[in-house]
Amino acid sequence: MSDGVFRPVPEWYRDDKDKLRDAEDAEVCAARGGIQSDVTRPDVEKLFMITEALWNILKEKHGYADEDLARMVQDIDLRDGKLDGKVTRQANPPCAQCGRTLMGGHPVCLYCGAVSVRGPFER
Ligand SMILES: [Zn+2]
Repeated sequence: MSDGVFRPVPEWYRDDKDKLRDAEDAEVCAARGGIQSDVTRPDVEKLFMITEALWNILKEKHGYADEDLARMVQDIDLRDGKLDGKVTRQANPPCAQCGRTLMGGHPVCLYCGAVSVRGPFER
């Protein structure tokens, strides 16, 4: 039972119950917003299924092979010069009308009001 006073437990004394409490604390922290994310695990699972379904359609209807997909994924990964499994966020592009930098993801220029058409995968 806790008296509210933090007393660190030495690593050599920690047992499985201590480790389980740490994991539970981490879950509580995440649930309370300690880790911010708008994407939930069911969202990610659904996206995996949709991606696989779309890929299977492309293979069946258009004859693409898994090697085509692997090559394209690698090409996208290498756009920043590093094969690291990440897509590096690109710098904000300039406004086509006034040339000032468009601010993070906004389709409308904050300076001149011009509407910018951005690529569907720009982040
Ligand atoms: Zn502008």
